Amino acid sequence: MMKRKLSKTNHFADTLNRVSVNKEVPKSAFFILLLLFLIANHITRGLSRSPGVWIINGREFYLSSLAGVTASLGNICILLLVILFGKAGFIATLILLIVQFPSLLVSILLGRNYAAVQGIFTNLLTITASVIIFLNHLRVVNYQKKMREQAITDQLTGIPNRFACFELMNDLIAKKEKFVLVSTDLNNFKSINDTMGHAVGNKVLIEICERWKAIASREDAETLDFLSRPGGDEFLLVIRAYQNEMDIQNAIRRYQNALEQKITIDDCDYFLNASFGYAEYPADAETAIVLVSYADTAMHEVKDSVKSDRILRFTQDLAKIEKNLATERKIRNALEQDSIFFYLQPQYDIDHKLRGFEALARMKDSEGNMVSPGEFIPVAEKIGLIDQVDLSVFRKSAMLLGKRIRESSADITLSINISVRHLMKNNFMDEIREILEKSSLPPKNLEIEITESIMIDSIDKALEVIGEIKKLGIKIAIDDFGTGYSSLSYLNKFPADLLKVDKSFIDEMNSSESSRQYVATIISIGHIMNLDVISEGVEKPDQLETLKEIGCDFIQGYIWGKPLPPEEAEKLVY
Ligand code: C2E
Ligand code: CA
Ligand code: CA
Repeated sequence: MMKRKLSKTNHFADTLNRVSVNKEVPKSAFFILLLLFLIANHITRGLSRSPGVWIINGREFYLSSLAGVTASLGNICILLLVILFGKAGFIATLILLIVQFPSLLVSILLGRNYAAVQGIFTNLLTITASVIIFLNHLRVVNYQKKMREQAITDQLTGIPNRFACFELMNDLIAKKEKFVLVSTDLNNFKSINDTMGHAVGNKVLIEICERWKAIASREDAETLDFLSRPGGDEFLLVIRAYQNEMDIQNAIRRYQNALEQKITIDDCDYFLNASFGYAEYPADAETAIVLVSYADTAMHEVKDSVKSDRILRFTQDLAKIEKNLATERKIRNALEQDSIFFYLQPQYDIDHKLRGFEALARMKDSEGNMVSPGEFIPVAEKIGLIDQVDLSVFRKSAMLLGKRIRESSADITLSINISVRHLMKNNFMDEIREILEKSSLPPKNLEIEITESIMIDSIDKALEVIGEIKKLGIKIAIDDFGTGYSSLSYLNKFPADLLKVDKSFIDEMNSSESSRQYVATIISIGHIMNLDVISEGVEKPDQLETLKEIGCDFIQGYIWGKPLPPEEAEKLVY
């Protein structure tokens, strides 16, 4: 079976070989060099004995003088053998050179061929050169081997490191062989380091490795395991040759049990456990890096839970939780550093005259990559940080446009997005008043966008706040109109100023007559209710044309302007 085919002790050596910087020279080259040497040698002998003379351009040319050239060619073959094939090449070289001595001696002593004396010296020199090259080669090879070992070995424990583990995984992936990657992290290991010092911490790690190494290399083990330590108190385990989920869990449990036995260092007893998470290739992920991050996700889920010594398999749900947690960290970070910023997307009337801007929240993570609002706004809503995001965007955009309006006396509208959760907060109106005051933005130049679908849930309280907003002279827009379930009577009660037709309707509008009629009806209803209507997400000229025909009042979309950094948006204001 598979277990028999894969040698347990070979993983490490295999990995070593894969990391080798030496490219294998084909074996055929060995025999070709040997053959070339023998041919060169044979020709040399023939030439050195040859009395032949060539006359070239009237000058005499002795064939025997060519022997030096062919002898040198032979020597080059010999040297290449040693350089390319190390020990095997060296031994072959010695044999080839040494066996020539008797025939050379016979040739000198009995045949009186004194030219062969030169051959003896050449042979001796070649042997010396081969020995020097071979010794140097050995030194380099040993050094390379040491470097390779260091590159893939964890210095503290002597087991393979992260790099080695990735090498193995990539190799298995290339062979399409299924395996499980287990990520494990000791629980509360930091407290040992903090209270007993790093030296004791290191001894504990070494002891754990000894125990785990013994499990991984057991000849009669049920699975094929490869243990590695990427660093700290983390370990990665590659498990192969299992049949089912039970085999995987049992394999991991062996490591868990071994770890949980008492560890005694310098007469002190320690009791440790760890969190284990795993993911499988190819079922869960197709690349090593994703597999590790998934196994880590599962491991962290265990670590953060009450029972932190469980074994958990990765699922897509976990990935979502993890991603949301990461987004949450980014939002908290950005709020702490006040680095939430905004873009302004222009809104135009149908004749392309600027109506104003919608302020849209923007955020970067600590590496400077943009995080999409589609990702962070829903998370901010869920964890109750949306009001801080809204306010940050409102404060910053109001300061900018308040100033710009004063300077230019342009009558433009700043639209801000306010989450209904935020709207319902008791101090919402105070916050708005304060920002209006500080920014000296005239209330009539401010518009608050509220998403239709959310308003329906808590209509009475919403209506109360909206009444107050209106009293201040601020405009109200119903965002994403058409995506919720608002009835006409509900819309009638609602003191809005602007209806924003959702992009999804604009996308569909020209695909059929009924879709076009639908948008035309929304616009008519808006007008009957005395509301202005703006279409969002207008990208194409044919959409613009239709919207003109059916009487839409305002346009917001890439066709006339994408969301812009404020300094660029400002240039549009006269
Ligand atoms: P929204 O309020 O419906 O904003 C319009 C979104 O459509 C923006 O996406 C805008 O960039 C995009 N858009 C506008 N014109 C086009 C177009 O022609 N083509 C395409 N493909 N897209 C267009 P963005 O900036 O990603 O914002 C997404 C959503 O995030 C917003 O949808 C809004 O619901 C929310 N959001 C953004 N900023 C804030 C904020 O400060 N507070 C709150 N509560 N929500 C915000
Ligand atoms: Ca909006
Ligand atoms: Ca919208």
